[in-house]
Amino acid sequence: MRPLGAQVDDDGRAPHDMNDEAVREGAEVTAGEMAVNHCEKIPLGTQGATEWEVVHLPSSLGDFQARAFRSPVTGSEHLVLSVGPLQERGGLLRVHSECLTGDVFQSLRCDCGPQLQGALDLLKDEGGIVIYMRGHEGRGIGLVEKLRAYALQEAGVDTIDANLRLGHAEDERDYADAIDILCLLGVKSVRLITNNPQKRDALVAGGVEVEALVPLRIAANPHNERYLETKRKRMGHYLE
Ligand SMILES: [Zn+2]
Repeated sequence: MRPLGAQVDDDGRAPHDMNDEAVREGAEVTAGEMAVNHCEKIPLGTQGATEWEVVHLPSSLGDFQARAFRSPVTGSEHLVLSVGPLQERGGLLRVHSECLTGDVFQSLRCDCGPQLQGALDLLKDEGGIVIYMRGHEGRGIGLVEKLRAYALQEAGVDTIDANLRLGHAEDERDYADAIDILCLLGVKSVRLITNNPQKRDALVAGGVEVEALVPLRIAANPHNERYLETKRKRMGHYLE
């Protein structure tokens, strides 16, 4: 038995993934018990079979198996791509936050497109899972607000202060749906493809073991230099 509090970073946890009382009272709960408890909370009845079909998705980016998950909490629909057999323990996982401008239109203002591409490349070599999280645009503030934040950045404000100035938190992303998806897939531990320590903390808080972090080295360009520097300095991202 390990004390729950020792595995959890208060800043990173998803709000309804935790037994807060257990944390406050220092009760001992194993990671396994947490995961089981959490999985039991998933209203599986809301997942009709047609919403969780496994289909083949051939793509110029790779050859994937695809599943779609509709969150009973937020209504967001997430895409789960995988390569090879699902691994209960130790498989590669990327939890990618939707970025329409970066992922689809290859915006140079951020590094989301190259990160997604890099993760898919790793999957091609090793197998693994990408959960494409909808509703995470602009660290959870949405597309309209993200572009408002860009306007502030053009006036010299950095990416964090821009979100704050618009009345948002520094990061409003919620990873509860990703935890639910991993429960449904039977995934208990992962090697997480990310430069963002908060993502690791959110998964751990939800009862998913993170065996290792697999960073993505993305070269900066003149348009995202300052953005990447802010993520490194102010958000602790592992960027060179
Ligand atoms: Zn982006």
